[in-house]
Amino acid sequence: MSTMPTLTLYNTLTRTKEDFAPLDSANVRMYVCGPTVYDYAHIGNARPMIVFDVLFRLLRHLYGENNVTYARNITDVDDKINARAFERWSRQRPLLAEMRDLTEGTVAQFNKDLKALNVLDPTHTPRATDFVANGAEPMDMVRIIDKLVARGVAYAAEGHVLFSPSKMDKLPGAPRYGALSKRNRDDMLAGARVDIAPYKRDPMDFVLWKPSNPDTEPGWHSPWGFGRPGWHIECSAMAGALLGEQFDIHGGGIDLVFPHHENEIAQSCCAFGLDKMASVWMHNGFLQVEGRKMSKSDGNFVTIDELLTTTKFGGRAWPGEVLRLAMLKTHYRQPIDWTVRALQDAEAMLIKWGAALRGSGVSFHPRSEPSAQHADVVRALADDLNLQKAITLMHGWANEADRADFSNAHFLVAAGRFLGLEPQKWDRRPSPATFEAVANDTIEPLIALRLAARRAKNFAESDRIRDEFVAMGIVLKDGKDADGNPTTTWEVKR
Ligand code: AMP
Ligand code: ZN
Repeated sequence: MSTMPTLTLYNTLTRTKEDFAPLDSANVRMYVCGPTVYDYAHIGNARPMIVFDVLFRLLRHLYGENNVTYARNITDVDDKINARAFERWSRQRPLLAEMRDLTEGTVAQFNKDLKALNVLDPTHTPRATDFVANGAEPMDMVRIIDKLVARGVAYAAEGHVLFSPSKMDKLPGAPRYGALSKRNRDDMLAGARVDIAPYKRDPMDFVLWKPSNPDTEPGWHSPWGFGRPGWHIECSAMAGALLGEQFDIHGGGIDLVFPHHENEIAQSCCAFGLDKMASVWMHNGFLQVEGRKMSKSDGNFVTIDELLTTTKFGGRAWPGEVLRLAMLKTHYRQPIDWTVRALQDAEAMLIKWGAALRGSGVSFHPRSEPSAQHADVVRALADDLNLQKAITLMHGWANEADRADFSNAHFLVAAGRFLGLEPQKWDRRPSPATFEAVANDTIEPLIALRLAARRAKNFAESDRIRDEFVAMGIVLKDGKDADGNPTTTWEVKR
């Protein structure tokens, strides 16, 4: 392994880029917070899935395929899920079974979405409901809560169990509550938008367990009565059960730093008597759509499935490779603005790479030989996932891929595969039927705009619109009608 580059990762705990040193290089362990499956996943949810998929691929390359364990959970108990399950419930079976049935559907859809984005299956994809009070599981949520009560950092009150950060701060050996988010008590109180509830001794206390109404809410039997877990304890239990009390990397979106990850650390460290849970905490930046926060009421909310199979975004469906590359083009810690323009740019880039390969005469299945250039891509990624550098290298190879020397084309294929971008699909365009479906709404008005620009001799504008068509994989044919007026027809480039 001496030729392998050193992996450096930005650690939210220390706010610095650090050399990565796994606890056990024969079993590198990573946990990522997955989606709450009350509905189809939106494109923001895809970001951590893709970012940490690249890291998973890199870790397997650096440490060996069988030496990396990756757990990414499914949150399948939550008030929104509970309410939906209750609405559908016919009382023919337990409410929990109804809930499971509901989430089977959303989980299947999520898996389908991730397949289209070429995200590898993690080693484990635990569902929270399998880790609540499973008698055979030494690390289930009820047992961890029990330990926290026994250690004096949690208390039961009115069917709830609450975690007390102020007690944690007095527990010898435990980290300071707030160390990850670097917030003081006032910031945390503001950030968590905490409820002042009569059963809380301190407004900072957060819920580990809460009571369920057996007539309307799913629940489990516990020492504190019939109830259900709080959100944070789910991840402490699943990570502990599948990766051990301490592991290497914990990831998720930047929105989770506080309170979710702060609380995971509090629970796991206090229950297991440790000063740290994971060595490295990594967070992807947030995704917004066309410059605005995604929200259902603003109409700019878009699911992964809608991007892949409908014309809702930009008037057409987008191949999974385009979505994946568009996601990879922005550094994972930066915010990303999800725009039609960015998808067109990503598609144009893939089409260019595909054309470079075809032009070089290289088949899409070259034997992958270890090469210094491919190592450059690995080195770029090992620098805190510097994908921009990796993509720039690939661009250079595409520009210089020619028949005389196959190596550049080979590097391009190898690097593409490494990033989960399958070269066979690089010039896969949406089907002509997709365009037919939106021609009246999207293509024809744009053609009319371009004709108007040409009539006004605004050639810069008419060229810009033509380029937009090219990015969509559409060629325009200019002609004249019987009266000599300019006309434009279009077809999908083959
Ligand atoms: P949720 O289903 O909201 O619990 O989110 C699942 C995962 O997606 C978490 O890691 C979140 O941090 C992440 N996530 C949710 N919304 C966005 C967004 N708009 N941009 C980036 N990541 C997000
Ligand atoms: Zn989590």
